[in-house]
Amino acid sequence: MSIAQNLLKIKSSLPSTVTLVAVSKTKPIPDLMEAYNADQRIFGENKIQEMSEKWEVMPKDIEWHMIGHVQTNKVKFMAQFVSLIHGVDSLKLLQEINKQAQKNNRIIDCLLQIHIAEEESKFGLDEKELNEILASKTFQEMKNIRIVGLMGMATFTDNREQIKKEFKHLKTIFDFLVAQPKNQNLEPKTLSMGMSGDYQLAIECGSTMVRIGSSIFGGRQ
Ligand SMILES: *Cc1c(COP(=O)(O)O)cnc(C)c1O
Repeated sequence: MSIAQNLLKIKSSLPSTVTLVAVSKTKPIPDLMEAYNADQRIFGENKIQEMSEKWEVMPKDIEWHMIGHVQTNKVKFMAQFVSLIHGVDSLKLLQEINKQAQKNNRIIDCLLQIHIAEEESKFGLDEKELNEILASKTFQEMKNIRIVGLMGMATFTDNREQIKKEFKHLKTIFDFLVAQPKNQNLEPKTLSMGMSGDYQLAIECGSTMVRIGSSIFGGRQ
């Protein structure tokens, strides 16, 4: 099937409450344009350099999501245009995003990444670290970032029960976040979980945003 056909098939299977991020990392511009011409407007990339190059040449009504791990010293390269940063996992990174957003006279939406997988290698905060950030004065005084929800990745396994358990755990933390007193930089509404292999399960567990790459664009090298 073509990229456009894959996209339409996936879109028609998603509940209207779920937003689709088309994960286009490593894929060439013509592939992204095929998705664009099939009405896709949200693209996810995991490298800032690659995302910037694509942003420069592609139509300006695209929302670019940074879904990869972000190095503090690279935030400045995307601060002008990024619409959502999924993988925020430290106060230090939030401070840098806040600083660069301020320079660009914007408020940048962020998701805090929570570590839900068994693997050590996956990035993210635990619940204690999440609470420390929320409680810190430094965070509360930031004016140019907005935490709009959480992101997480399940363990890479065939064990559906385990994946489900991890997604449910993340949903519980999300519900906790939603119950916090709102303020100018905390407006949780987005739960980013689910990729090609597990997005149906993620939606059953309460996901509101899925990040799908290979099922749209085909496998990556
Ligand atoms: C690559 C990637 C995806 C998409 O993975 P697929 O299995 O190709 O759908 C989703 N989320 C993150 C964080 C990724 O790096």
